[in-house]
Amino acid sequence: MNADLNNLIKIAQIDKEASLKEPEIAKIENTLNIKLKEHSDLENTLEEITNSIKKAKVDISSNELLIQENKDKIEQIEKKVLNAKSERELRALDAENGLAKEKITFANEMIGKLEKEISNLKDKEDEVLNSIDRIKKEIETIKIDVEKNTSLIRDELKKIFNKKDEIAKNIDNKVIVFYEKIRKWAKDTSVVPVKKQACSGCFIKINDRIYSELNKLDTIITCPHCGRILFIEK
Ligand SMILES: [Zn+2]
Repeated sequence: MNADLNNLIKIAQIDKEASLKEPEIAKIENTLNIKLKEHSDLENTLEEITNSIKKAKVDISSNELLIQENKDKIEQIEKKVLNAKSERELRALDAENGLAKEKITFANEMIGKLEKEISNLKDKEDEVLNSIDRIKKEIETIKIDVEKNTSLIRDELKKIFNKKDEIAKNIDNKVIVFYEKIRKWAKDTSVVPVKKQACSGCFIKINDRIYSELNKLDTIITCPHCGRILFIEK
């Protein structure tokens, strides 16, 4: 058999082995990715809670301001009452006074609600902070595991690629470049055997002329239909 083709078959086999290892790494890393996602979700929840607490505090301040304004108003009304000249004026002042008191009552109720809300939010905040602490510890443990398990696979991959480099040394560089180009789209089926006189990449029949050339095995031949490198299996 053509020496380059023979080596190319070996290289294609090695690349196939290597590409089977990659999903293994992804699978191991997936458990870590799930935890990292959980962590970032929790951080987002924490931020939302912190913002809600801030907003509630601002709302409390504006209600406190409202109370102060209405207290001042009541003081002024009381002064005016002392100098009131008519029954009508007194009634108007009384109505104004009542309105200001209502506003104060309402603002106090709001403050009560907001304080309760803040206390609930702070409980939630504590819960989330605890979860974040827990998940951070879990992530550290998983990271060590992932590192250990993926480094085993990476070592295997390194060995596989060293083997590939050794073989590649003996092949004409143009052939390697040609193969890598096909590999870009054909992946693990870049070099395929002919079965029942058909390409086992695209499954289309090879004509007799090319088939007989292939059987001579003195050159690298690609499938005229799909462009994959063909060989006759022994
Ligand atoms: Zn084909």
